[in-house]
Amino acid sequence: MDKAFRAFFDRVKAGRTPGFPRFKGRGWFDTVEWPKDGDGCRWDSQPEHPAATYVRLQGIGHVRVHQHRRVLGSVKTISVKREGSRWFVVLSCDDVPAEQLPATGAAVGLDMGVASLFTTSDGAHVANPRHLAATADRLAAAQQDLARKRRGSKRRRKAAARVAVLHGRVGRQRLDGAHKAALALVRDYDVIVHEDLQIANMTRSASGTIDAPGRNVAQKSGLNRSVLDAGWGVFLRILAHKAESAGRELIAVAPRNTSRTCARCGHRARDNRVTQAEFACQACGHTAHADINAATNILRAGLALRRAAEAA
Ligand SMILES: [Zn+2]
Repeated sequence: MDKAFRAFFDRVKAGRTPGFPRFKGRGWFDTVEWPKDGDGCRWDSQPEHPAATYVRLQGIGHVRVHQHRRVLGSVKTISVKREGSRWFVVLSCDDVPAEQLPATGAAVGLDMGVASLFTTSDGAHVANPRHLAATADRLAAAQQDLARKRRGSKRRRKAAARVAVLHGRVGRQRLDGAHKAALALVRDYDVIVHEDLQIANMTRSASGTIDAPGRNVAQKSGLNRSVLDAGWGVFLRILAHKAESAGRELIAVAPRNTSRTCARCGHRARDNRVTQAEFACQACGHTAHADINAATNILRAGLALRRAAEAA
């Protein structure tokens, strides 16, 4: 165990006010991991107290924890993590029961965004979690503030602690939102088509995509753009995990031309995109919300890939 942690836990054990372990250089996140449940640590080891959850840590004793999510499967590793002045117990589990869901016969396409997390081909705009954009703005400001502080100074240490706290908060807000959105999708759809993230990142820029200039520019400040962009990766990872355990099919497609092609007639032209939100086909007159039109094209591309794979 890390020396700073050891000293901290020794102070906790002795019943003294623990204070906090020192920052070690640039390490804002300190994590201690125990390799497996029962070896030096044990999750929920006091069944006689059903109302409370405890983790027992070797050399520390029982520590009561506030549980954010239900634990499924068997606990494989337990780690204790510090973010700023708060402590978290992070579990990884084996044999999480797969929750096979009944078939719905429905498929959906997702158009990933920044202002909203994604828009579906069925017309649902799924927002980022409430407060995430505001926290992301504060994080970006705190990071800029940190960059201005002199190395080794007390102010720099304080600024680093603030960044760590906001970083943790953004992460948890994003994770919560991703879990909820992904769960809703796997419940409702057998097949989920999304943009291939690596290709999407190459074609998008702060000034927008080649297809649709400006469509991805963060609405409010632009400060938090990179933080919100990073949310796609988290969301898609969680979605992949939930889709697999629910027996759903997830398809990634190249996002090329999805925003300027008419979802009804296939006519492709830059003029089709009237404004950021508005799509109006110059050939057939089809009008739609631009993101719904794009999500419909993404769905269609995914279903075409699927048919091609079945035919092969
Ligand atoms: Zn058209």
